Amino acid sequence: MELRLIEKSDHDFFVQNLIHHYQVEGVKRKESAFIYGLIKSPEELCLDFDCTLIPPKKYFLPPKEALFQFASGPAPEATPVIADDPFILFGVHPYDLKAIHQMDRIFASGVPDPHYLKRREAALIIGVDPIRVAPRAFWADMGAATISNGFDLMFTDIGESFIVETGSSKGEALLTQYGKCRPATKEEARERVSVRSRVSHACKKRGIAFPRREIPTLLKHSWDKIFWEEWADKCLSCGTCNLVCPTCYCFDVKDDMNLDLIHGERMRRWDGCLLQDFAKVATGENFRETRASRYRHRFFRKGLYLFGLLDDVACVGCGRCASGCLPDIADPVNVFNKLREDEK
Ligand code: SF4
Ligand code: SF4
Repeated sequence: MELRLIEKSDHDFFVQNLIHHYQVEGVKRKESAFIYGLIKSPEELCLDFDCTLIPPKKYFLPPKEALFQFASGPAPEATPVIADDPFILFGVHPYDLKAIHQMDRIFASGVPDPHYLKRREAALIIGVDPIRVAPRAFWADMGAATISNGFDLMFTDIGESFIVETGSSKGEALLTQYGKCRPATKEEARERVSVRSRVSHACKKRGIAFPRREIPTLLKHSWDKIFWEEWADKCLSCGTCNLVCPTCYCFDVKDDMNLDLIHGERMRRWDGCLLQDFAKVATGENFRETRASRYRHRFFRKGLYLFGLLDDVACVGCGRCASGCLPDIADPVNVFNKLREDEK
């Protein structure tokens, strides 16, 4: 694997070229937070963020999207709506890349989802290694400190320059066409290793106190624990933990009818298993009526049910749920460590 080097003084030139030829979506500052949005100038792009408020999943599974347009009546018809405009997603941390990889597998399994998959095909992803750790992050414990695939280019900030790894022929073309770079020296490549290990070490200051692959077994023994009732007692059923999670992908589907009552659109919107009506069905029955059952379900889903499909826990340790939960009960670190402690 050949590593290249882009001087920071040449980075703006690269970004400006990308903006000129592509729609570039990337990380920007919004007051004290970081968000993904359209990048209009190189100065807007921020690569030293710790974590964004909302993960990049919104580019592949938008909060609200039309699946198809329809006409009812004597000549019914349906026209699929597929968004496949090419774009560049610039500034994705390894834990979010891991989450995207998990989502890819989920949306490609069973009946493949063309809406998600077309958007994924249309995206060029430029990853970036974190150089700062968000206060509630624990990605180093979730096997997401670094990643070796799932990106077209991967940037690592080593001070005055970025080391760039190529992950695909499309990434290689972007770099050679629009960037000014040279091969990295062995010393510069070593600096990348030391940056990664320093940040990973910083992330290990908090984390899960046992190997993550033991989470499914821990959960199997925890179904009846009083813990779920006790902690869920503070739950506001706000759904924030679902909304901000890069591996939560549940949605609801509803038809929006036009006033003519003939034409309309079938819409898909994010949903969340912590919301009160998530498991409510047509007869009015709610399969997870209590806060405790919804709260428990979220951890079982991530730590046990999806393990069979992904061969991994469906949590990448970004810490967004922990930061966003007002009563501070959503943090997987606290939940899993408490369950393990109670087992002793
Ligand atoms: S666990 Fe926290 S973030 Fe999630 S629904 Fe309950 S209060 Fe909201
Ligand atoms: S469960 Fe929380 S820490 Fe894990 S991926 Fe989702 S938001 Fe991040």
